[in-house]
Amino acid sequence: MTLADFCARCGKPTARFEEHGRPRARCGACGWVDYDGPKPAVGAILVRGRQVLLSRRAREPLRGLWDLPGGFLEPGEDPEAGIVRELREETGLAARVLGLVHVAAGQYDGAGTLNLVYRCEAEGEPRAMDDSAELRWHDPRRLPEMAWPHEVAAIRAWLAGQAE
Ligand SMILES: [Zn+2]
Repeated sequence: MTLADFCARCGKPTARFEEHGRPRARCGACGWVDYDGPKPAVGAILVRGRQVLLSRRAREPLRGLWDLPGGFLEPGEDPEAGIVRELREETGLAARVLGLVHVAAGQYDGAGTLNLVYRCEAEGEPRAMDDSAELRWHDPRRLPEMAWPHEVAAIRAWLAGQAE
């Protein structure tokens, strides 16, 4: 849990309370409530031949494990624009979104996430940049050690759709 100790609106201290069995923090001065809502994140399934592009994490948490290219949305950012931006930052590719594959809750460093995985396509050769240490095409049926279980589920969901 990462409830705020101080109010995001006025800066005064907050106090913990429970609502519907969930912990919250409320500002004693102005009444602002921190619900500790999940952070939205986007990921991409890019395919070449029968392989999926994975990125080895350059940073903590879970540095060295593999994940789908992607990241957190910016405030107010359209999710499809977000995954196109993340792919540009992390792989150098100008990608196009083909469709939504999978939506799932997850965890990142003790905080909740809501993860949207899109099937994307792009021309050209990806180059590892930003928070990617290495990019590699992998057989989706023989995945390396993945950082996030929800991404394994997303890849399986995509594979299941391919088989139909
Ligand atoms: Zn306040």
